Amino acid sequence: MSSPLTRDWVGIQQFPAATQNKLLEILGKLKEENVSTMTILVMGKGGVGKSSTVNSILGERAVTVSTFQSEGLRPMMCSRSRAGFTLNIIDTPGLVEGGYVNDQALEIIKRFLLNKTIDVLLYVDRLDVYRMDALDRLVIKAITDTFGKAIWRRSLVVLTHAQLSPPDGLNYDDFFAKRSEALRKCIRLGARIKKQEFQESNIPVVLVENSGRCRTNDSAEKILPDGTPWIPNLVREITLIISNGSMPIVVDQKLIEGPNPNNRGKLFIPLILAFQYFFVIRRIQRAIKDDIAKESKPLWELRDLGLADRKF
Ligand code: GDP
Ligand code: MG
Repeated sequence: MSSPLTRDWVGIQQFPAATQNKLLEILGKLKEENVSTMTILVMGKGGVGKSSTVNSILGERAVTVSTFQSEGLRPMMCSRSRAGFTLNIIDTPGLVEGGYVNDQALEIIKRFLLNKTIDVLLYVDRLDVYRMDALDRLVIKAITDTFGKAIWRRSLVVLTHAQLSPPDGLNYDDFFAKRSEALRKCIRLGARIKKQEFQESNIPVVLVENSGRCRTNDSAEKILPDGTPWIPNLVREITLIISNGSMPIVVDQKLIEGPNPNNRGKLFIPLILAFQYFFVIRRIQRAIKDDIAKESKPLWELRDLGLADRKF
């Protein structure tokens, strides 16, 4: 999907040598698997750190980060190539506005994605949010209705603001585990995925710290509180999704204009009802009628009908 707008991925050189080496190693592995292009779609509510995460992965200020005002309505695709590999990252506007899911934004995103293939969805939210609400579930539902449930097999949850001290003296790992579980549950409910089906393909949750004040290790790599350099970690998790055996999401006209991909089977409902009527219900009715006709009536019934001798 390399386009004339694909630029050389120079941002990679901004990373410390240790990060660069890890990233090049990951890209090398992808090439061995014959993957030479990867398209990542970034979605989530407004202000959660989508654009910042795009910039962090690319190592440059490719998209606008806005602290206060809401973002524009248009998605933006950044394409960068390096050593024969093309990375496309699509940043999108927040899906929530004024307490509702912004259908107009969703519609524009859909049109923008036409004829593109989504390899991975990054669903971005903040780590330092303690509760999920109905709106979160609506955002998940809107994404599911647009791309189908299968999108969640191609997804990674990204939690920004990872450098935090959990409230009430909670242990960091426990806090992260609880937050991840709440989000996974919200996705399962919002996407209406069966519990067992969901557990078999647990969505990975990855931590990110976009702040310029993110702590670094001796090699100057930005690290999470547990010492993990998070940029190569995130990119590695993204590539694991590609090889998890699921199919990428092809955004074609049918997906955009067709019925909700999760409801496609519902088109068959009238056909199934008609089949049931003609081949099942009618047959049963006929069988019952035949039975009634053939039935030898008991004497008392014939007597009541005046057809038997009233000798008794
Ligand atoms: P978007 O609306 O989801 O694209 O969010 P932005 O990337 O524009 O970020 C919104 C605000 O959150 C900006 O002020 C960012 O600097 C800030 N921000 C984003 N990610 C992080 C993060 O991981 N840590 C911290 N401390 N701030 C962040
Ligand atoms: Mg943004």
